[in-house]
Amino acid sequence: MKQSRLLTLLGLGLGMGAPFGILALRFLLHAHSLSVMDYIPREWAAFPFFYWYMLVGTCFVFALFGFWVGREDDRLIEKDRALSKEVLTDPLTGLGNHRFLHDTFKIEFRKHLDSRQPISCLMMDLDFFKRINDAHGHPFGDMVLRIFSRIIENSIRRGDIATRYGGEEFLCILPNCGEKEAKTVAERIRRETEKQVFRNGPYDAKITVSIGIVTNDDPLETNYHVMIDSADKNLYEAKLRGRNQVFQTTIPGVPNAFHPQKPAA
Ligand code: GH3
Ligand code: MG
Ligand code: MG
Repeated sequence: MKQSRLLTLLGLGLGMGAPFGILALRFLLHAHSLSVMDYIPREWAAFPFFYWYMLVGTCFVFALFGFWVGREDDRLIEKDRALSKEVLTDPLTGLGNHRFLHDTFKIEFRKHLDSRQPISCLMMDLDFFKRINDAHGHPFGDMVLRIFSRIIENSIRRGDIATRYGGEEFLCILPNCGEKEAKTVAERIRRETEKQVFRNGPYDAKITVSIGIVTNDDPLETNYHVMIDSADKNLYEAKLRGRNQVFQTTIPGVPNAFHPQKPAA
C-alpha cells in the first residue's frame, strides 16, 4: 500500500482519538454519578457543535497531515527505486550492466543449486566491431549496440536475463536451460544478427556475432564465476574457429560434451 494512503488512514484514526479523549477526560472529572452509556449522549447533546467540530476538524487535519507526509515518503521511495535501477542499468542499451550481472547470476546460481535444474550462460562478442566504428563513426557503432541488444531481448525466453558485459560483449543467463535449448537460443541470436541490416542516414552495415555457451549440469562442481570463465573461453574458441558461430561445452567439461557449431552455409 502506498505510504500516502496508509498515513491518511492512520491520521483519520488518530483524529478520532481527540473527541473521544476529551469525552473520556470530562467523564472522569465530572460525571461521577453517571454510567458511561448515560454520560455520552448527554454530553453530546449538550455540546454538539464542540464534538462535531472536534471529530470532523481533527480527523481532517490529521488525515491531511498523514497524506502530506506519506506523499513525501512515496516520492522518496520512487526516487530510490529509480536510482537503484539506474545504478544497475547500462545507459546505452538499457540492459543490465556488469554489476547487475553479478548480483543476478549469484541469485540464479543459488536457485540452480537448490532446484538442481541445469543453467546455461551465453557470452557474445560482435565480430570486427572496431571496423564499424572506424568506417561509420562511434554514434553508428552505438546504434548497432542498441539494435543488437533488442535482437538479444527478442531472441531469449521469458525469464532469461540479458546483460551488457562491457564494450561490444554481452552475457545472457539462461536459468532452467539445458545444452540443447541454450544452443537454440544462441543460434537464434546469431542468425538474427547476421540477417540484420544496420542503417543510419547514408550508411548501412552488416555484422556477425560469435557466442560461447556453457551449460552447468553439475551443481556441486562449480560456481557462477567458473561458468563466466568457461563461456569466455568458448567465445574465444568460436572466434578462433572463424567467428559467426557458437561454441558450446558443458561443466564438468568432459571431451564428448563439446559441440562446436559451424555457421550455416
Ligand atoms: P573481434 O572480432 O576480435 O571481437 O574484433 P573487434 O573489432 O570486435 O574487437 P576489438 O576488441 O578490437 O574492438 C572492440 C571495439 O569496440 C573497440 C571499441 O572502440 C569498441 N567499443 C567498445 N565500447 C563501445 C561503445 O560503447 N560504443 C561504440 N561505438 N564502440 C565501442
Ligand atoms: Mg570484445
Ligand atoms: Mg568484438
